[in-house]
Amino acid sequence: MIKVKNVSKKYGSFTALHSIDLEIESGEFIAVLGPSGCGKTTLLKLLAGFMGPTEGTIEMDDKVLASTKRVLPPEKRNIGMVFQSFALWPHMTVSEHVKFPLSYHPNKIKEGKKELQERIGDVLKLVGLDALAERYPSELSGGQKQRVALARAIAPLPNLLLMDEPLSALDVELRMEMRKEIQKLHRETEASIVFVTHDQGEALAIADKIVVMNQGRIEQIAPPEVLYTRPETEFVATFVGKCNLVKGQWQNDRFVPAIDSKNIWPDLGVADSFKESGIYPVRPEQFLLMPSEKDGLQGVISFVQYQGHEIHYTVEVGEETWTIHESVFASRFNTGDVVGISLKNAPIQNESLVPN
Ligand code: ATP
Repeated sequence: MIKVKNVSKKYGSFTALHSIDLEIESGEFIAVLGPSGCGKTTLLKLLAGFMGPTEGTIEMDDKVLASTKRVLPPEKRNIGMVFQSFALWPHMTVSEHVKFPLSYHPNKIKEGKKELQERIGDVLKLVGLDALAERYPSELSGGQKQRVALARAIAPLPNLLLMDEPLSALDVELRMEMRKEIQKLHRETEASIVFVTHDQGEALAIADKIVVMNQGRIEQIAPPEVLYTRPETEFVATFVGKCNLVKGQWQNDRFVPAIDSKNIWPDLGVADSFKESGIYPVRPEQFLLMPSEKDGLQGVISFVQYQGHEIHYTVEVGEETWTIHESVFASRFNTGDVVGISLKNAPIQNESLVPN
């Protein structure tokens, strides 16, 4: 278990990380998600030991790895690293890339031992590069190069694998394939993984737990489904998927949209912080569009975008503009149509229908 306790990091007078607390369980796959400049790489560098914290400590299995007084350097930690740029050495073959860390890592294997060749063979097989062992980086495709970087990182059997945007240099199809490869590697190596990305789809797809960061602070830590269905802050609600932040009044577990107080929406799992600020975060696919403007809230369709499996509607509702996604199999609407809007999974509640 790795514990990041109250860690802050300053670059001169600029604070890049503010009091970060994070626990990484053994074998856990964590994605660190956030916009450019929010401090993701800084957190990774602290976990690796490239620099020390300005405040706080980092512990692994109750041993202090870093504090303001002392920082255990990367080569003395049992970690592996994969970078966005692959960072391969042009003069080394695939097999030499895997051999290299086995000579310098804390888990090194002595030259000449049978175990060394066996480990290199096993690792290359695991990442599907056994047939290319004698090739140089210039003779490999982008996906193959990234596999070499992965093989090099996992060869010494690290407890912790740090990955900084490892898939961002690859095209979309290859990214999807490599995501599965990384999930497979995770299952087989049992290492904890900290995977930095600014791609929310990637984080949702790959991780056990997502850490969402914004301006050097952690906004929320949760498993993907909890993060998506129950965001706790406006930042998380709009950065991870696109939530509509509907304004209104919370009356215990009933919400009355400001636009039309005759409507009442039930609480389908809204975090307390939104209740305090009078907001109902609604995912585009959580809305139900109906042909009759008498049902639910009234809106006017201003844009229609066909997306293959879904139709994306932009709908003007009073002063607000909402994004609503409907299946292609649902009722279709055109620009200018007046529609009724309600929440899916919620009975249509209209004040005029509720008995006194
Ligand atoms: P990106 O997604 O763009 O890589 P990031 O979330 O990884 O961004 P960091 O690289 O951790 O962000 O940087 C966090 C903040 O700290 C940024 O505002 C950056 O400009 C600043 N920063 C990073 N390194 C230094 C440095 N050596 N000196 C001064 N400021 C720095």
